[in-house]
Amino acid sequence: MHVVNIFPPPIQQITSEIARHTGVDMYVLRLDLMHPSVNGNKWFKLKYNLLEAKEKNFTTLLTFGGAYSNHIYATAAAGNLFGFRTIGVIRGEERLPLNPTLSFAVQQGMQLVYLNREMYRQRNTAALEEYLQQQFGQVFIIPEGGSNLNGVRGCTEIIADAMPTAGYAYAFDHICVACGTATTLAGIALSLHEGQRAIAFPVLKNGAFLAQDIESLLTNYLASSLPTPYSSPASWELVCDYHFGGYAKVNNELLFFSQQFKEEHDVPLDYVYTAKMFYGVMDLLKQGFFSKGDRLLLLHTGGLQGNVGMEGRLQRFSKI
Ligand SMILES: *Cc1c(COP(=O)(O)O)cnc(C)c1O
Repeated sequence: MHVVNIFPPPIQQITSEIARHTGVDMYVLRLDLMHPSVNGNKWFKLKYNLLEAKEKNFTTLLTFGGAYSNHIYATAAAGNLFGFRTIGVIRGEERLPLNPTLSFAVQQGMQLVYLNREMYRQRNTAALEEYLQQQFGQVFIIPEGGSNLNGVRGCTEIIADAMPTAGYAYAFDHICVACGTATTLAGIALSLHEGQRAIAFPVLKNGAFLAQDIESLLTNYLASSLPTPYSSPASWELVCDYHFGGYAKVNNELLFFSQQFKEEHDVPLDYVYTAKMFYGVMDLLKQGFFSKGDRLLLLHTGGLQGNVGMEGRLQRFSKI
């Protein structure tokens, strides 16, 4: 592969009144700062998919996503950086002009293909895969969101990668992460040391169903021959109360919180994922969910590109 500078993510301490009051130490792992366009958890989910594609001599990556997808954005950028042709299969109909996410993808050389919602629902079936292979030739297919075992594997490296010394990784009691498909959570959970716990905040409504998905991701991963950093049983829990009405739904409280958080701590948050998790953690702090002396690590999983496309919607929505 080419030499590409993807930096180890910095850790930033958050000093807030409420954290000090409750005796809890809070840190943010800034995966959003690793590279201007290939960053966040999406980079970790792509990493081993790209390596497998390269090993198997594929020259084209094909993947799936919605029109605002962080994964489409990251795949287009990573493909360009590492010398792959990329095809993005987008859910729904083409809308022109392209939104900022898709214009960026095209600028990076990604070819966009649109599937209506019914066809798109078949994205994980052998039939659609075959159809796509016929249409585009030999392509390495990465599932939506980079959510396969290669994706989990990459995410087992997030915390270790971040820590200047291995010992530092032990220092945190709770690792907090926003959760869509829970691929990232599964990787994190598999990389924890004894006594550490991952807390996942689903951004979808009724996120409790994810428990089953997490169990099967963990089972499948452990049944595979992929490496597991540590052998202690994965410890995780779901906190389902901070979805704000569902995927990509926001309200003024969430917008206000993100603005304030950025002003006070110089940490910009995306509205779809990280803002909800950070809001949830601050709220749990207030409720006394954590104990004095606990050390929290909040994962900033990136996604800031999506804020650009949401701006128009937010202006209509909010007066702030
Ligand atoms: C995709 C994404 C997530 C969710 O990751 P999963 O592995 O699907 O749970 C969280 N945060 C951001 C910023 C994302 O783009």
